[in-house]
Amino acid sequence: MPTFYCEYCGTKFPSVFNLTSLPCFRHPDGANKGRHKLYEGSEKSSYSCKYCGANNTSIAALTSVPCPRHPKGTHKGKHTPAL
Ligand SMILES: [Zn+2]
Ligand SMILES: [Zn+2]
Repeated sequence: MPTFYCEYCGTKFPSVFNLTSLPCFRHPDGANKGRHKLYEGSEKSSYSCKYCGANNTSIAALTSVPCPRHPKGTHKGKHTPAL
């Protein structure tokens, strides 16, 4: 059974339909301002931020921390997992 992760918050879902039908508490426009977004990379033992290279063992942990090299400005957004 595959597992699907949200790129913004790392929440796991059993289907893409579930994932994209629910609001995301870590959406870049603000909490619950948009839906979860499918993380299209493969499942890994560690994830790195595509902007700064920070590593963490889960998407949820990685995306809970503001990114020093976020494109919107220093700490203006969270780390974003590379594919
Ligand atoms: Zn989410
Ligand atoms: Zn980062």
